Amino acid sequence: MKKLSSFLSYGRQTISEEDIEEVINTLRSPFLTQGPKITEFEQAIADYLGVKYAVAFCNGTAALHGACFAAGIGESDEVITTPITFAASANCVRYMGGTVVFADIHPETYNINPLEIEKKITSKTKAIIPVDFTGQPADMDAINEIAQKHNLIVIEDGAHSLGAEYKGRKVGTLADMTMFSFHPVKPITTAEGGIIVTDNDEFYHKLQLFRSHGIQKTPYSNEQGDWYYEMIELGFNYRMTDLQAALGLSQLKKIDLFLERRKEIAEIYNNLFKNVPEIIIPKQLKDTNSGWHLYMIQLDEKISRKEIFKKMRELNIGVHVHYIPVYWHPYYQNLGYKKGLCPIAENYYKRALTLPIHPSLTNDDIEGIVSSMTSLIS
Ligand SMILES: *Cc1c(COP(=O)(O)O)cnc(C)c1O
Repeated sequence: MKKLSSFLSYGRQTISEEDIEEVINTLRSPFLTQGPKITEFEQAIADYLGVKYAVAFCNGTAALHGACFAAGIGESDEVITTPITFAASANCVRYMGGTVVFADIHPETYNINPLEIEKKITSKTKAIIPVDFTGQPADMDAINEIAQKHNLIVIEDGAHSLGAEYKGRKVGTLADMTMFSFHPVKPITTAEGGIIVTDNDEFYHKLQLFRSHGIQKTPYSNEQGDWYYEMIELGFNYRMTDLQAALGLSQLKKIDLFLERRKEIAEIYNNLFKNVPEIIIPKQLKDTNSGWHLYMIQLDEKISRKEIFKKMRELNIGVHVHYIPVYWHPYYQNLGYKKGLCPIAENYYKRALTLPIHPSLTNDDIEGIVSSMTSLIS
């Protein structure tokens, strides 16, 4: 086991000279924000996915907030999501005053289990927020079927899954609205940034309003004069800047290369761990093509995850744990959610360990990580 000379993070951005160049060009342009780069970036994302509309936000969390606003979620509504996700997937419901309902995960894919969703539906259920955890799409056909039956809106949290596919269809084309995040650990980055894609005209209009104070130019504006605008909803300033959009445009050109490398890394891990009985490698469904945002292993019950985590970190290997079940957090505990609510998620959490995966990881890095891992557990 060799201690690395510098910390190797579980995920990070891959930035090229072209990316830097694009941002600098925008700095020299007349617009730092509300300029042409935003619409260019939105169009490029929409074209890449094959959807009608894309609305960029200052981060993925704001984008989810916008989607919940567009979906009309309010205080009397319940929204179903998974506990194995980043808190933002649930918090966005709380921003609108809605109630979060957690449905347990599938034990092998770690994604929300449609059978568990079905059990949680009440007359108050308004929407479902499935998360494509690790980059593997949730079971969207089954989820959409439930949504159709109960007249629910589906907001897919695709923070991990830009470019991923489900039964030959790209994530972004599978739900009423889909969110992508451009945080530096995510598939492509704009530093902070997020986007909602949709084919729905009404959602598109509401998303645009919401990210810019609820202000619009109205058909009456000519009566008043050209300065006139109206604030018709209580929106926010959730806009992306042109600097971010310029970086995003440049990054998007490399998405397929990034995804290819992530897949390669996952395959190397899978092969090296194949014959290690103490490690369960992540199961991929045949008809999904994961974005491999995270490489999650599960450790045998006999192994102390806490100990392995500590020793790996001492070697400068940035292992992590994704995620603490959302309702375990004190904020949700204070709202009355009890531990034990989703036993499969909790069992997963106790044994889960995240290993580094990002496009700039070298094969030597991976072999080093695996050999440290295997000597620590044997
Ligand atoms: C990163 C992430 C978000 C939030 O995105 P930000 O851009 O960081 O606000 C939401 N959901 C999931 C699953 C994420 O991983």
